[in-house]
Amino acid sequence: MLIILEPNLSYETIESLIERLTWMGFHVVRQGDDKLTLVSGVDKQVIMQDFLALPGVKQVMSLKSRFKLASRQSKAENTVIDIGGVQIGGGDLFVIAGPCSIESEAQLEACALVAKSAGAKALRGGAHKPRTSPYEFQGMGLEGIKLISRIAKAHGLLSVTEVMSEDQAYEAAPYIDILQIGARNVQNYSLLKELGKLKNPILLKRGFATTYQEFVMAAEYILVGGNPNVMLCERGIRTFETYTRNTLDLTAVPALQEMTHLPIIVDPSHGTGVRSLVPTMARAAVAVGASGILVEMHPHPDQSISDASQTISFSTFNHMMKELKAIHEVMRRF
Ligand code: PEP
Ligand code: MN
Repeated sequence: MLIILEPNLSYETIESLIERLTWMGFHVVRQGDDKLTLVSGVDKQVIMQDFLALPGVKQVMSLKSRFKLASRQSKAENTVIDIGGVQIGGGDLFVIAGPCSIESEAQLEACALVAKSAGAKALRGGAHKPRTSPYEFQGMGLEGIKLISRIAKAHGLLSVTEVMSEDQAYEAAPYIDILQIGARNVQNYSLLKELGKLKNPILLKRGFATTYQEFVMAAEYILVGGNPNVMLCERGIRTFETYTRNTLDLTAVPALQEMTHLPIIVDPSHGTGVRSLVPTMARAAVAVGASGILVEMHPHPDQSISDASQTISFSTFNHMMKELKAIHEVMRRF
């Protein structure tokens, strides 16, 4: 059930309305200044007229979508996430760049310098790495988190890093702007529930075999927990093809945009696993209407501790950024 509020209501009026609805047995989530969504308790025997009689209520609509908060029905306009003036999901192209793993201060410094000068807005790097083998490098942990936080800030970039557990999320939250949830954890519901309690925007990656419905429902877990700032990231799915590491599903971008108001980011690095294909698929992602790109780069790509085969060089990155800007300019006209 969606409750549209009268314009310009006082804080007290809205609060007492929420209190009353909660008392009536509904789980109420506030969406922006003018909407309340009743996400549970809606099977109660209360008729529309009863809601309309409440002070401050302008209109009542029943929500057909299973996504009470993420759907276009509950919020028609795009969600724009604003982090200190950097907007994600508005008109600008949001580029996240950096190494797969944080390896050293020198490595991150070099990446930050290039990312900033080419127009990227965020520096990425993994400090807790979800490696297939337990014998491979697992990441620098908290030391890496502090490093990326400091270097990103020094260069006027946002920081992005992956967390794999509730403990890691709480540990990283004070240092990191955007917490990434990796493909392997997209349906880790206890983790998603905790992320709802945090203030940090969340970059939620699609799993290897996650349907669009399951993906949006995973975001719904974070939204209903009270964190409205979620961006979805298409990063390739597993198919029968072996030439590429994954199959980058660009249909996900317009399809998810029909289903949800949340910003959609594309990761052509994990999406292909092949360095030579990354710039081309990044261009395609911008052309298909993605709000942003996540790309892995490194001062010496072949020496990357993880994901070397998909990591691009600085010169490739700089060239790609020029192409992305040109395509994005054209896209603005549509
Ligand atoms: C990553 O971004 O380095 C990563 C491990 O991504 P994914 O979860 O998409 O595999
Ligand atoms: Mn990686």
